[in-house]
Amino acid sequence: MATRIVRPAPAIGTDPGITPVGALPGVGPALVASLARLGLERVQDLWFHLPLRYEDKTRITAIADLRVGERAQVEGVVEAVERGFRYRPQLKVAIGDASRQTLLLRFFHFNRAQAEQLLPGTRLLCYGEVRHGAQGLEMVHPNYQRLSGEAAATVDELLSPVYPTTEGLGPKRLAGVIGKALALLPPAAQLELIPPELCARHGLTSLRDALLYVHRPPPDAHLGQLMLGQHPAQQRLAFEELLTQHLSLKRMRAAVRRRRAPRLTGADGLQRRMLERLPFRLTAAQQRVGDEVARDLVRPQPMLRLVQGDVGSGKTVVAALAALTAVESGYQVALMAPTELLAEQHLHNFRHWLQPLGVEVEWLAGKVTGKARKQALARVAEGAPVVIGTHALMQEGVAFARLGLVIVDEQHRFGVQQRLSLRDKGKDGELVPHQLVLTATPIPRTLAMSAYADLDVSSIDELPPGRTPVQTIAISNARRIEVIERIHAACGEGRQVYWVCTLIEESEQLRAQAAEVAHAELSAALAGFKVGLIHGRMKPKEKQAVMDAFKSGALAVLVATTVIEVGVDVPNASLMVIENSERLGLAQLHQLRGRVGRGAVASNCVLLYQPPLGQLARERLQVMRDTNDGFRIAEKDLELRGPGEVLGTRQTGQLSFRIADLTRDAHLLPAVQQVGEHMLAEHPRQTAQLIERWIGGAARYAHA
Ligand code: ADP
Ligand code: MG
Repeated sequence: MATRIVRPAPAIGTDPGITPVGALPGVGPALVASLARLGLERVQDLWFHLPLRYEDKTRITAIADLRVGERAQVEGVVEAVERGFRYRPQLKVAIGDASRQTLLLRFFHFNRAQAEQLLPGTRLLCYGEVRHGAQGLEMVHPNYQRLSGEAAATVDELLSPVYPTTEGLGPKRLAGVIGKALALLPPAAQLELIPPELCARHGLTSLRDALLYVHRPPPDAHLGQLMLGQHPAQQRLAFEELLTQHLSLKRMRAAVRRRRAPRLTGADGLQRRMLERLPFRLTAAQQRVGDEVARDLVRPQPMLRLVQGDVGSGKTVVAALAALTAVESGYQVALMAPTELLAEQHLHNFRHWLQPLGVEVEWLAGKVTGKARKQALARVAEGAPVVIGTHALMQEGVAFARLGLVIVDEQHRFGVQQRLSLRDKGKDGELVPHQLVLTATPIPRTLAMSAYADLDVSSIDELPPGRTPVQTIAISNARRIEVIERIHAACGEGRQVYWVCTLIEESEQLRAQAAEVAHAELSAALAGFKVGLIHGRMKPKEKQAVMDAFKSGALAVLVATTVIEVGVDVPNASLMVIENSERLGLAQLHQLRGRVGRGAVASNCVLLYQPPLGQLARERLQVMRDTNDGFRIAEKDLELRGPGEVLGTRQTGQLSFRIADLTRDAHLLPAVQQVGEHMLAEHPRQTAQLIERWIGGAARYAHA
């Protein structure tokens, strides 16, 4: 039971920053509770609670000058009022101004008093976003105030900051408390945590000035610049925020590095035997990355290494070699993939390479159930050398006898939090496993330096020899018949074809149906050639049988849903058609296309699209036609979608910055890194304070 303790209001101490917000004048328990919901507990939390955007109420815009999509302040007289009930209650208020145009104000939530006050002839000052409505320009739920008598409307002198807030805490109230907190800002030198010599070297201006500027932009502030986050004051804050995130990741990494890991020295007998049996030689890049991994594994600290390499660059072999090192040293290896199909593909490869060397590979996917699962779990607990499964493997608390290496494939679907939770599996004092992360989505350099600052990065930046780049074209679905004729001709030449159905339906069942329809269409059109079908609703055995048939050449065409996005490897397939390609993101398109161009024959990719194409889709398809380079595609993807989406970490909140924007502020990162190194080495106290200031509760949580 929680006990209710009545505390006297705290006093403002010598360090106002860490003083509880309750010490501010006029901030009572109810407000303290609302602020706490926003994570605002100390006065400095209010200083660093930064505006999301600004409203310009410093001027009045004539209705005739309004532009759709912009926010504006309008003064007008109510001309007509209409209450509608057709679909849901609504109140429509038409106002007019001296420009002799009409603007419709539309309210869906309103009370009777409100409706009764908005009578024709009433003068209003309102602010909102201008949209296109059925009857011309309109504002939905504008802020408004009634103007009395003939007095001219008073406009604001300053731009008004709009803060992130929570239910029950009005914007004015929040802005008021922040104002009170700002009154306690200490002198510039005291507020600064980045040492003066570093500020000077990197041209960092006063933090105090920057804070005051963003909270209270002066009357002559450039709204456009502020809206884009490009004002020097915002850039100064963005720098500090990026720096803090970088420091925080580096510190987490250092904490993991202090843990102990088994030294995996493996005599490399198994490795050599595997290499001898391979039908190819490692590329120089695979060799180099393999060496980097091997050097990490012999250390008594856990390896945290990200291996990035474009689709088809041969990451699996490198992972298998690392696995053998662990096995030879007497430790177990767990390999996890994000989907069953990809896990199966790994199982297939690993068994093919490892079993001839006498190394057994356990299969522990979600679909392994009942007795088979019990037996597999028992073998793992007794020390089975290699275990392959989906990401659930770790979450379900599978018990290992001596886990020495964890390999995680396709990390980009994984958040930073998840990565950390994996690491924390080992208890204090116990050895923690080494961790090898494989990603086919190359991480743009800018992101690698920030979001992945806790990992070392190795790049397999070379494809195995003999690959020819995939020629890509975009064709309208109106020319579908021609495309099918082309497939017919290609099959006649002995080529194998993927036909990918990408309808983004809400269920796997509907996706499967769409694929079945395409399968029927192609089977009819391609008489004389065998057309197979694979989708996510099939049993693993059925899927494997279809894949095997395609691999052996018994099937000429494989109709598939995006289940083949990752991992599928059929070198003879040299033509891919992607339906509704306009609906897919760049990363996914690149992954899909990576399924062809694996053999020596020239490959083609046809991006079928349903016109008309939107602007974004047009750009994406253009990028795909222009390049096969995963790094360039990833950079472009980042530009088009933003880092949260690219990393799949939107939910974890790890990358939700208050002011920084990795795309916009990427140019700051080299300096962030330099300052970061200095601070970690020489200013540990300030480093801790910066993290406390910007990340506060979240950082405490991450360390818990
Ligand atoms: P990814 O990096 O996309 O996971 P894979 O590991 O699946 O790539 O490798 C793609 C294909 O290339 C596989 O068929 C693999 O056997 C083959 N491969 C890997 N390394 C080489 C190499 N050095 N030379 C030739 N083929 C290779
Ligand atoms: Mg792979």
